[in-house]
Amino acid sequence: MNDLRNMINGESVDPVNGRWLDNLEPATGASLGRVAASDADDVELAWRAAENARADWDACGGTQRGRWLHRLADAVEADLEELARLESIDNGKPVSLSRTVDIPRAVANLRFFADAADEDRSRRYRTGSEATNVVHRDPVGVVGLISPWNLPLYLFTWKIAPALAAGNTVVAKPSELTPVTATRLGELASEIGFPPGVLNIVHGLGSEVGEAIVDHPGIPAISFTGGTATGARIASRAAPRFKKLSLELGGKNPNIIFEDADLDRAMATSLRSSFANQGQICLCGSRILVQRSVHDRVVDALVEGAGRLRIGDPLDDETQQGALVSADHRDKIASCVDRAREEGGEVLCGGRIPSSLPDRCRGGYFYEPTVITGVPMDGATNQEEIFGPVVTVTPFDDEEEAIRLANATDYGLSASVWTASEERASRIADAIDAGTVWINCWLLRDLRVPFGGVKHSGVGREGGEEAMHFFTEAKTVCTAEGTTS
Ligand code: NDP
Repeated sequence: MNDLRNMINGESVDPVNGRWLDNLEPATGASLGRVAASDADDVELAWRAAENARADWDACGGTQRGRWLHRLADAVEADLEELARLESIDNGKPVSLSRTVDIPRAVANLRFFADAADEDRSRRYRTGSEATNVVHRDPVGVVGLISPWNLPLYLFTWKIAPALAAGNTVVAKPSELTPVTATRLGELASEIGFPPGVLNIVHGLGSEVGEAIVDHPGIPAISFTGGTATGARIASRAAPRFKKLSLELGGKNPNIIFEDADLDRAMATSLRSSFANQGQICLCGSRILVQRSVHDRVVDALVEGAGRLRIGDPLDDETQQGALVSADHRDKIASCVDRAREEGGEVLCGGRIPSSLPDRCRGGYFYEPTVITGVPMDGATNQEEIFGPVVTVTPFDDEEEAIRLANATDYGLSASVWTASEERASRIADAIDAGTVWINCWLLRDLRVPFGGVKHSGVGREGGEEAMHFFTEAKTVCTAEGTTS
């Protein structure tokens, strides 16, 4: 692969400081090439380009912005197979997943907000016979977007599309661990003649590029998806600067299975919610809570299912479990499993690096799907996000205990509940601290509904109108009745 440069003002440019980072392929550990190790100077250039482009982008109107986003979606769609291959190489995820989920969802994000760009969001209120208030929604300006490595193009476009649709221009930073598809997106935008300066992409470390975006005085809004500790750091820097902040952070999501559930369906989906993308999805159900009467059955099915998942080369169409994103992340997961053992946990399957891998993948960062029982709910294993192919299973006796266990962490992103009882489902959905509760399903997403977490899982919501509100400022114009004509 070529050097991955920044995209600033519609041009692919080297970092000002001439520094580069090695970009490694997770499935092999081999170098894929270099990615720009940019810093505050590049962020400044990107900001200037975005600032210069912003009046025209706003003035061109929602209909035209929507057309541009549809054209970008067309370009991504036409390149789907290649983008899916690149995502799989760069991230380690099975190509079947990037082909059916990551890249199609990136297209859907662009199209959804392309359509939203055209809608009139102003509101008019008559105040008796005294006045008329008109509430306009203006773009915020140049916005900073920072995204993680687990769903690279999917989450990158989830921020870029609403920001641009609302009339903002963008300085965006993908994770330096997975910079390939973001670079390709910038190239595609440039190839279709996207107005220069509207979409600027700066590569580099969070501590340099990310913080420069957060600190920049000309960037009044930051949308961040990533870990909770990083979110806290960003919030501490952005708050004194009175920036708008959207934080989508970690999760430790409960997956609650009652004895009256359709267990076949629950187990098929729970296998996915445990191990999809090697467990590196913020919405994975990493804490499985099972009613005691069906506990052993559920555990047996889970262990059997985990053992059947095909681990292998992410580029092989048959692979179901690819590589973890980095050696550091694989080692962190291994140490979390060691800690679970120290907490008294029993590792029923997995808990190690797979012994048999294709030759090409011997230097890669793989870890077996792992099921652990017997760890306390207040221990680190059940409290801290592991973000890998590791789930715990904990029994409960009744509804009350299930709710108590489900809410017993600092996180509150999502939950799944498996039960045949509509009343129980509704009671549990009410009682659970989470931004999203799935009943007898997982990861069914409608782009119109709000998405985000409570407690330490985030601040604010993305998706649909929530995103369009975040990326705009309300301005109320109140005119006394009968004073103008
Ligand atoms: P990180 O928080 O480490 O990084 C996320 C992004 O922030 C990266 O681009 C990173 O750059 C950048 N960054 C790091 N430090 C700073 C900083 N001080 N200032 C500004 N930017 C910074 O998360 P991961 O990439 O490890 O992603 C995994 C995490 O993301 C998990 O906790 C997961 O739960 C969460 N997540 C949440 C989602 C949600 O919607 N709630 C969805 C998906 C993931 P760099 O790569 O260089 O470190």
